[in-house]
Amino acid sequence: MTRTRALFDLPDGVTYLDGNSLGPLPKAARDRVARTVTDEWGTQLIGGWNEVGWMDQPARLGDRIAPLIGAATGSVVVGETLSIRMFQCLAAALSLRPDRHMILSDTGNFPSDLYVAQGLISTLGQPHSLCTVAPQDVEAALGPHVAVLMLTEVDYRTGRRHDMARLTRAAHDAGAVVIWDLAHSTGAVPVDLTACGAEFAAGCTYKYLNGGPGAPAFLYARPDVSGDIAPVLAGWLGHAAPFAFDPAFAPAPGVARFRVGTPPVLQMAALEAALDVFDTVDISDLHARACALADRLAAGFQRACPDLRRLTPRAPEARGSQISFTHPDGYALVQALISQGVIGDFRAPDILRFGIAPLYNTQADIDTAIEAFAHIIANRLWDDPAYRRRKAVT
Ligand SMILES: *Cc1c(COP(=O)(O)O)cnc(C)c1O
Repeated sequence: MTRTRALFDLPDGVTYLDGNSLGPLPKAARDRVARTVTDEWGTQLIGGWNEVGWMDQPARLGDRIAPLIGAATGSVVVGETLSIRMFQCLAAALSLRPDRHMILSDTGNFPSDLYVAQGLISTLGQPHSLCTVAPQDVEAALGPHVAVLMLTEVDYRTGRRHDMARLTRAAHDAGAVVIWDLAHSTGAVPVDLTACGAEFAAGCTYKYLNGGPGAPAFLYARPDVSGDIAPVLAGWLGHAAPFAFDPAFAPAPGVARFRVGTPPVLQMAALEAALDVFDTVDISDLHARACALADRLAAGFQRACPDLRRLTPRAPEARGSQISFTHPDGYALVQALISQGVIGDFRAPDILRFGIAPLYNTQADIDTAIEAFAHIIANRLWDDPAYRRRKAVT
């Protein structure tokens, strides 16, 4: 039993292996949101912006996330969604290399990141382009034409993890600016942005940070470059003096210029409370435990079902905090597991995915999942038309 599990509200009878999509409810977040609603919004009304620090949340929470990703104080700002953050990072990165026009990414990247790149390119027009190569071919594809290397560290489908330090160095050697998407890294694997030297990074907070559905994203800009950026999404709260209501934009110092509009105060309150648990844990330790639990699950599942093909690498430095498999009946298998109270998820076309978060997942969870899976296989419970009907969110 891990010490921190008691800090989460987990429903009885549920084995939750989907914290890589949406972390569970921290009890502290439930209480903090209730207090923010009643004691702050309910009594302070508009005074909350000044009196209880709502306006400072984006910077204050950025400083709480910074140590989890090896970033300096003052280099991270919270708000918006990850898709918007990637757009901001890309536009900023391209502006640092005006004489180059190619964005390089890989086929393991999350679609939204690639869509954002495509949208930005169509706005900028020729000769900008997006090039995606297989994850193992990224380094070889770098060259004097690449303006920006944009990658997600941990592949959301397979759990494969890039070597951030090595690829950042290679990209810098080729003269490119580097952006890391840390969606499946933050709170799950050790990240050291300062050591790797990437110019930009962004991530979401509703996955391993347990900030709640729709929790805001974060953006990191290396302290020596943020001052050179003219933000493309220049919103009033990124202005140096928003309440001067100056018709002309003048950027706030540093990363604060990437703020856009009014922060989601209730979501920020939930996130702020959710971050407390990270003050008491070591991410390297969490990741080591996640690898051991994931391997235990893999061994048990593959014993029950030898057709299950493991996708997630074995070396700790090459994997995130999930375990993924392929199987032709993957969707039905996941649905059958969910009906038994074991919640994982499915990613097209045939991937079964289980997030492992040792903040609350224990060996007992893994053993429960293995037992349920073996039962489903032995009794062909997955072979039911009800489990083949696709829901909107898989
Ligand atoms: C989850 C995820 C996103 C989601 O972006 P939102 O704007 O928060 O919906 C983007 N990129 C990656 C790599 C992700 O894993």
